[in-house]
Amino acid sequence: MSKECRKCGHTLDDDDKYCPACGTPVDVKQLLRSKNDAKILGVCGGLAEYFDIDSNLIRLIATLLIVATGIFPGLIIYFVAGMIIPLEE
Ligand SMILES: [Zn+2]
Repeated sequence: MSKECRKCGHTLDDDDKYCPACGTPVDVKQLLRSKNDAKILGVCGGLAEYFDIDSNLIRLIATLLIVATGIFPGLIIYFVAGMIIPLEE
């Protein structure tokens, strides 16, 4: 999958940090909440997209962490994450 410079449209290699044609920094991967892959706030879906792993695996781990922390601390972290992480466009 090839990327393009969002400024000049020059085709970029995957490991390009800057566009070789115009020097514009290539977009870094941003952690966003997922709209399409959301069960509650989309935090898990967004994490899954960011780390490129199965969102259900993230949910499983998140659930285990929430239970392991005695429910409320984990839930608070989840909702704080939901407020901090912007929703994808
Ligand atoms: Zn460019």
